Amino acid sequence: MSEGMTDGRECDGPDCNEALQKLYLFIDHELEDASCEQIQAHIDNCRACLTEYELDILVKALLSRSCSETAPPPLRERVLLSIRTVQVEVREQRD
Ligand SMILES: [Zn+2]
Repeated sequence: MSEGMTDGRECDGPDCNEALQKLYLFIDHELEDASCEQIQAHIDNCRACLTEYELDILVKALLSRSCSETAPPPLRERVLLSIRTVQVEVREQRD
């Protein structure tokens, strides 16, 4: 599985690639307990993966907030408005 990675690191847990691959599952609590413990242990000992983990949590929080909002987000309004503006411009050019 990890042939050619003999750089002296003695780690029987998941490496960064494996940890990052499972990060989303870990955040969504879709990992079995054994894998959860491994990822948690890796994050505790790996600053790079911890940063990635915190970023993912942040993005997930932002996404779930914008999804649960019932009012249309400003971005949608702006996109619709610009589409309408373009349509008006096209019509004016034809007239
Ligand atoms: Zn790592």
